[in-house]
Amino acid sequence: MATQRSEPLRAQILSELEGIKTVDCHSHTRLRSEYYTAGGFDLFTMTSYFARDIATTAGGPIYEGATTDEARWERLKPVLEKSRNVSYWRHNLVVYRELFGLKDAELTDANWRQVNEAIRERSQAPDWYDHVTRDVCRLETQVRNIPWFEDWEPEYFTAVLRMERALELHQEGARQDLGGYLDAPIDSLNAAKKALADLTERYVRRGAVGIKLAHAYGRTLHSLPVAEDRATRLFEKSLRKEKLTPSEVKELQDHVIFYLAGLADEMKLIFQIHTGVQGNWGHIPDSDPLLLIPLIKAFPNVRFDLFHAGYPYSRMIGMLGKHYPNVWLNMAWMYVISIAASRQLLSEWIDLVPGYRILGFGSDVGFPEMIYGHLKMARSCVADVLASKVENDFLSEEEALSLARRLFRDNGVEFYGLEDKTEA
Ligand SMILES: [Zn+2]
Repeated sequence: MATQRSEPLRAQILSELEGIKTVDCHSHTRLRSEYYTAGGFDLFTMTSYFARDIATTAGGPIYEGATTDEARWERLKPVLEKSRNVSYWRHNLVVYRELFGLKDAELTDANWRQVNEAIRERSQAPDWYDHVTRDVCRLETQVRNIPWFEDWEPEYFTAVLRMERALELHQEGARQDLGGYLDAPIDSLNAAKKALADLTERYVRRGAVGIKLAHAYGRTLHSLPVAEDRATRLFEKSLRKEKLTPSEVKELQDHVIFYLAGLADEMKLIFQIHTGVQGNWGHIPDSDPLLLIPLIKAFPNVRFDLFHAGYPYSRMIGMLGKHYPNVWLNMAWMYVISIAASRQLLSEWIDLVPGYRILGFGSDVGFPEMIYGHLKMARSCVADVLASKVENDFLSEEEALSLARRLFRDNGVEFYGLEDKTEA
């Protein structure tokens, strides 16, 4: 092991992390084929979560009607004056600095053109996508959300089938899409469940390792078991084109959520669930991970992969990790939301939760370049936390170095069953 090295521990952990082929535990990265059909990106189109702060700062999208890059820069500038303190913007700066030659601390009138040009040029180079993914980020794989009926590129991604549309089967459009794809009309609740099982099985046969729900964006995470005959009556009501009340919709959805968990149980799939942080105007209490307790308790053999550190309910989700052996805690998205929060919650979780159930990195961005910015921030944060826990919290150096490796790689390899697919 690396224990004879004389560098300070933080630097030692950081170089350990840089040498690891990271498993990206949650991804929405655009496919290589999609990346290149766009014909190149620039400062204003290679965006990430700062777009959300732009929206709240400026009251909406800012580039509409701006026809030149100069005009777009003039729109961005006043937003930066008000909001460039936030972590989402710092994420962009890290990317500009690491990959596109920004030398200064901030983007200015004097340097934005150079960054803009560098993004435009590099994002059109045929080997760039691969270079950023494999050589710069050094990713083993990205565990990527695949929406219904869509495809992925297995050389970069490991699939998880996204399931929110399963909660829309009281609507005719969703029934027709699913029934049409499988060539089997959905004319009963049983037919709907069979279709969900068949669809999942098709993806699993092609390598998918789990299912995912992000229902906390639109409804509460709280769900309870709903009896088969009650759900059947509600489904039949929707088939008759009678409108379900909001609470009837919730009951039917709850029934489907429990059905999906049963499917995950039977097929030995991971069940990923979005918790915490939503979009602008989201109803924050809906995303509290403690609301999942009835589901988590009902399926002790299903491995639940709970996202985004449940932020701001990170302390609560830490206790879920502590008390429920079927709960894995996933740091996806978290370091760009707040490094300070990440540092604090990881420091607590490491005291609480057995290390094999902490998944230390999930990029959750659209561009490979943005993965690298996120990864830089994540490595820096985790090195801070582990070095400080050795210094202050009685953690051994040996365990700190071992945790670093497990958080960024080994846990993901084991949890998502990637052993056969990875290099030794
Ligand atoms: Zn996501």
